[in-house]
Amino acid sequence: MEQDALQGEDVYRFMEASLEIILKFDNQGRILYGNALAQEDLGYGEKLTQLSLDMLFPGELHRENDDFPLETLKKMKEGMMYRKNGTCFPVRMTAVIDEQCHFLFAINVAKRIETERKLVRMKEEMEETIKVRNEFVANVTHELRTPVNGIRGHVTNLLEAGVSGEVKSTLDIIIRCCENMSAIINNILDFSKLEAGKFVIEQKEFNFYEMVNHAVETNITAINAKGLRIMVNIEKSIPEYLVGDQLRLTQILNNLLSNAVKFTSVGYINIEVTKTVQFDDEIELFFVVSDTGIGISPEEKDKLFKSFSQVDASITRKYGGTGLGLSITKQLIELMHGTIHLDSEKGKGSSFSFSVRLHLSQNREEGIKTGERFEFINQKQDMSQYDDLEKIFQYGTPENQQEIASKMEKLIICMEVEAWDKAEAFAHNIKELVEQAPREVKKSAFRMEMNVRKANYEKSLEQYKDLKSALMEDIGGK
Ligand code: ADP
Repeated sequence: MEQDALQGEDVYRFMEASLEIILKFDNQGRILYGNALAQEDLGYGEKLTQLSLDMLFPGELHRENDDFPLETLKKMKEGMMYRKNGTCFPVRMTAVIDEQCHFLFAINVAKRIETERKLVRMKEEMEETIKVRNEFVANVTHELRTPVNGIRGHVTNLLEAGVSGEVKSTLDIIIRCCENMSAIINNILDFSKLEAGKFVIEQKEFNFYEMVNHAVETNITAINAKGLRIMVNIEKSIPEYLVGDQLRLTQILNNLLSNAVKFTSVGYINIEVTKTVQFDDEIELFFVVSDTGIGISPEEKDKLFKSFSQVDASITRKYGGTGLGLSITKQLIELMHGTIHLDSEKGKGSSFSFSVRLHLSQNREEGIKTGERFEFINQKQDMSQYDDLEKIFQYGTPENQQEIASKMEKLIICMEVEAWDKAEAFAHNIKELVEQAPREVKKSAFRMEMNVRKANYEKSLEQYKDLKSALMEDIGGK
C-alpha cells in the first residue's frame, strides 16, 4: 500500500500539469509557488513568487493594517484575477487554508461565461422565433380552416338537397378532400403545440372498447373500399372503463390505422391490445397494429418518427401526407409514458407496437369484459359531425352570432399555440360582442378575458368552456 500512495514528486507533477491555476502562499499572502499554468496565464513567469496574493485580486483583497485578509479569501468562490499587463479574467476558485499550508485553486471561466451568455442569447432568439412561428401557424391554420369548413358546409348542403350520378361522386370527392385538409391543419396545430411543450394530456373516464371501436369505424369505409379485412382483438382482462386521454389515444390509433390502410392494398389489418402491467390504479396497455402492406426497410425505419419525414419523395406523390403523423404519434405516446416500436419487412408488411399508461376508473366496479373479437365488414360510417360551436351561431343577431363563433374559434387556436397577444385581442372582442347577453354569459366572458390576459392556459381554457356552455344555455333557453 505504502508504495502505491502518492509521493511528493507525484503531487508536484500533477500540479504542474493541472488545468487549474494553483498557488501556494503563506499567512501574509506571499506566493511561495505557482504552477506552470499560473506562471503563464498571469504573465509573471517565475517572478510570480515575488508577489503577494492581494496583488492578483486588487478588487477583492484589501490589506488592513498591513494584514493579509485571509478570512475574506476563505469565503471567496469567484473573483477577478489580474495579469501582469493589467488585463483580468473571471475565475471560480477555492482556497484551502490550514495550519500547515495554504493553497488557492482557480479556474479561468471567461470562456464558459461567454458560452453561457451565447446560450442564453440563442435560447431567447429561438423562443422569439418559435413565438413568431406559432403566431404565423395560428393565423394560417385559421385562414385555411374557415374556407375548408365553408366548402364542406356548402357541399354537404348540396348533397342533402339530393344530387345523383357524376355530380354526387364529384361532391363526395370534394368532401373527402376537405377532410384530408382538416386533418393536415389539425396535425400542424398539434405539432406546434407539442413542440412548444404545451400539450396537456387529459385524465377522464372513457369506455375503452368504444374508443377502439370508434377508431376502427373512422377507417372502415376506406378499409372496405380496398377490400381489406380487419380484426380487432382486445385481451379480456382489460376493464371496460379506463381513465386517460380518450381523444389523443384515438388519434394515435387512428393514425397508425389510417397508415396501415393507406399502405396496404391486399390482405388484412390486425389490432391487438393486451395488458402488460397493472399496479395500484395504474395499467399499462400494449397495442400492436399490423398490416400486410408495402412494408418499410431497416434504413427507412430510422427516419420515420422524425417530423416531416416520409421514407422517400415518391411516397408523397403516390400516397400524399405530410410526414407529421408518426412524429406526433410518438410524442403523444411518450406523454402517456409509453414507447413506440416498428417491426417491418419491405414488401411483406409492417407492425407498429406501442405501450401507454392509463388509470383504472375509481367509480366503476363492473371490472372485466369477457373476451372480444371483432370483425368489421361492410359497415357504414356515420360522417355527420356537428360541432357544439354551431349552436353559438344562433346567438343574438345573425351577424353577431357569426362573429362570436369566429372569434371563439380564433381564440382557441391562439390559446393552443400560445399567441397570447392575439388571444387577448379576441377575448376582448368576445367580451364586447356579448355586451347585451345575460349576466352569466357576460361574467364568463369577463373572467375569460382576465385569464387570457394573465396568459394562463389552464384557467383560460376552463373559462372558455364555461363561456361556451353559458352561451349555449342562453341560446337553448330562447
Ligand atoms: P404521413 O402523414 O405522410 O402518412 P406519417 O408520419 O404518418 O406521415 O408516416 C410517414 C411515412 O412512414 C409514410 O409516408 C410512409 O412512408 C411510412 N409509413 C407509415 N406507416 C406505414 C405503414 N403502415 N406501411 C408502410 N409505410 C408506412
